[in-house]
Amino acid sequence: MSTASATPKYKRVLLKISGEALKNYQTGEPIDAGVLKRLAEDIKEIRKLGVQISVVVGGGNIFRGLAGANNKGTDRTTGDNMGMLATVINGLALMDALEKNGVEVRVQTAIPMDKIAEPFIQRRAVRHLEKGRAVVFVAGTGNPYCTTDYAAALRANEVNAEIILKATKVDGIYDKDPMKHADAVKYAHIGYEEALMKRLGVMDAEAFALCQTNKMPILVFSMNEPGSIRRAILGETIGTIVN
Ligand code: UDP
Repeated sequence: MSTASATPKYKRVLLKISGEALKNYQTGEPIDAGVLKRLAEDIKEIRKLGVQISVVVGGGNIFRGLAGANNKGTDRTTGDNMGMLATVINGLALMDALEKNGVEVRVQTAIPMDKIAEPFIQRRAVRHLEKGRAVVFVAGTGNPYCTTDYAAALRANEVNAEIILKATKVDGIYDKDPMKHADAVKYAHIGYEEALMKRLGVMDAEAFALCQTNKMPILVFSMNEPGSIRRAILGETIGTIVN
């Protein structure tokens, strides 16, 4: 059990939250107030440890460009723009929850919308982090045909984060789908090459390549376990680390 005086393993991290993680599967609501509140509380704890935290939020709980193109016949670029706007909605919801928890936060967007959020400016983002503010990056990379995992890989490198904490529904990376195979084995640690060779699908190929090329570690863990983000930051054995 960790104590309040515990020493964090990292000084600056980037947390990737998928849009799906914000969804309430019982009611179908895209953004669950309870999940947001828990997330904000977790981030507050991390700030108390003195860790600088930025967050990339996904938008899959609201809209995905590819799904839109496949199911609704939406033009892919238009759909991707809609997906990026969905991440802005999630980011603003997270901002609100953080502020209600007393966490100072700035939202930076890759698509300029100056009434709502700051534009993404790398140096300004770093300055916010140094001042102890959480920074939420929204609108992905600002480009279609990308994912928010790619945005996470990009921003983590740009702000010199030490690690990407990728919060998912599953508590790590398994040799096969743990939902389908009872004998699936979880990796505590895996190298980039091995993860690629075994096609473990940690992130999409472009995002993964950006991490591998720049030696950006990725910790895949479950957000559903209370306190998991804090435990990850304290370097406790949790999830799967790819490096
Ligand atoms: N998207 C995009 N460019 C980006 C990031 C996201 O076009 O740089 C679009 C894309 O359509 C994607 C959607 O936004 O499907 C939502 O992002 P994502 O699927 O990565 O969200 P998550 O799976 O993390 O909820």
